[in-house]
Amino acid sequence: MMVMFQMTFRYRIYPDLEQEQQMLNWLETCRKVYNHAVRERKDWINSRKCQIDRCSLQSEYIIPADVSYPNYYAQKKALTAAKNDFPLIKAVHSQVLQEVIARVESAFAFMKERGFGFPRFKKFGQFKTLNFPQLQANPLRATQIKIPKVGLMPIVLHRPIPEGFEIKSLRVICKHSGWYVTLCLQADVSIPNVPPHGNAIGIDVGLSYFLSTSDGEQINRPRFFDKLHRKLELLQHCLKRKQKRSITRAKLIQKIGRVHEQIAAGRLDWQFKLAHHLCDRAQMIFVEDLDFRIMAKGMLGKHTLDAGLGQFVNQVLPWVCFKRGVYYGKVDPNGTSQTCPDCRARVKKDLSARIHECHECGSVKPRDVASGQVICARGLSGVEIASGAEVSGALETLSRQLASKLESLKSDLEKPVLYS
Ligand SMILES: [Zn+2]
Repeated sequence: MMVMFQMTFRYRIYPDLEQEQQMLNWLETCRKVYNHAVRERKDWINSRKCQIDRCSLQSEYIIPADVSYPNYYAQKKALTAAKNDFPLIKAVHSQVLQEVIARVESAFAFMKERGFGFPRFKKFGQFKTLNFPQLQANPLRATQIKIPKVGLMPIVLHRPIPEGFEIKSLRVICKHSGWYVTLCLQADVSIPNVPPHGNAIGIDVGLSYFLSTSDGEQINRPRFFDKLHRKLELLQHCLKRKQKRSITRAKLIQKIGRVHEQIAAGRLDWQFKLAHHLCDRAQMIFVEDLDFRIMAKGMLGKHTLDAGLGQFVNQVLPWVCFKRGVYYGKVDPNGTSQTCPDCRARVKKDLSARIHECHECGSVKPRDVASGQVICARGLSGVEIASGAEVSGALETLSRQLASKLESLKSDLEKPVLYS
């Protein structure tokens, strides 16, 4: 099956002083454009909250009733118009700026989806990425990369671009530890079919454990970050006593940023190893179809967010499964923890109950393992297992399943996979 396939690789780059200053200026302009666009939308929405013939006691927004919502297209148009008046805006690559509006658009779309919380304004230095959505030509020249409108700079190609892949877009990221570029690679490749086959496991992501599998394995949260977290607390404590706008404060902020990056990198590495470990043991892996972005804001917020569960379940695991030829499936999460895996009876338990005890069939096992088994059973009932004679008939449904799976995988990969 021929499919457009995308993946992203990240490399270190070394701009010279002048290029660095230019990109920092761009980032600052982008930040202002971002904040301006957010402000415009926020004001419009707030002005529509109170009725037109009344005046609000707290604040008043003087936006006439016939002004339409500053949507994506309106803001893009306004941006193009603003170029003539503001040389700073003109200095930035035009597509990079348009991508800023796209970011505002998706931030507001996400607000609508979850139903609360305006997107935040970005403070000085908080805007860190420049997106170049289209490239005219291959930007790589041996050991250098050409960033549009900025110029050539050294790149460390620690891993080669795979044969047959083309660089579709790139993203420049400014981190505390230096500058990086993320290349989005695309190819027409034949994707090996991963039909559902072999041994299956269900995975329950939980509160007391990072995850539990249906065959009884329970993985703890990584403990080895405790030392780094303590270091972080110490540094943050020091930060409070530093004078505002002093050089020592700026240096400390950079140091803190580096520790954060170290933690993120270590966590990602651990997650990849865990994903490979799971793929060693199964040919099919099923997980619950949860929205971690929304969960993270809820009452279990800090916990799930800290452990990077969403990153693992939605990005790292499907990617490793794909590479290892393991079938990855998502199942309906409703009531997985309230069902008995052995007799399907409903067993009500609240969050504090750690043990599953069935009153119907008497089965007793850890709570998360029980839900892992329910997830596994649900996954298996949802797929047709390919074997011998069934293959020809099931092939069409399989390729359809696979296409949709690849779609979701691709959209996952298009998100900043290795972001921290
Ligand atoms: Zn039971």
